[in-house]
Amino acid sequence: MADTIFSKILRGEIPCHKVYEDDLVLAFLDIGPLSEGHTLVIPKAEKATLAELDDESAAAIGRVLPRLCRALVEVTGVKEYNVLQNNGAGAHQAVFHVHFHIIPKPDRDQGLGIKWPARSLDGDEGKALAEKVRAALGD
Ligand code: AMP
Repeated sequence: MADTIFSKILRGEIPCHKVYEDDLVLAFLDIGPLSEGHTLVIPKAEKATLAELDDESAAAIGRVLPRLCRALVEVTGVKEYNVLQNNGAGAHQAVFHVHFHIIPKPDRDQGLGIKWPARSLDGDEGKALAEKVRAALGD
């Protein structure tokens, strides 16, 4: 994987406002926050997308996400928030090192805005698709 700005942060070559670190995970404030407290949580493993990430790193992130959310709610006083994780340029990923955004949603104008063009799931198509995904998972 190509070196990213997050690799440089992990190596201490450029600074960040660190909020959490353990053997597998680093969390720091986003430099372009959508709202106060906007935080990024990254694995130390250098993988571009979530599908490439090893289970141990994924579990380590999953373990700490709720704690980070609780801390951010406490510090910002904002109870509502989004957790966002983009994969691929078409899906709005700009830094190609896995990261989860925690984005407080203080009001309508701050935080994450979401376009949600929902369609309806056809029963037969849903059944066939779910079967294919289960087969891909090997379950
Ligand atoms: P994404 O579009 O999901 O790839 O988001 C990348 C995020 O990284 C953006 O929200 C940027 O503001 C943030 N970002 C880029 N460089 C830095 C940096 N040096 N320190 C903190 N956050 C950064």
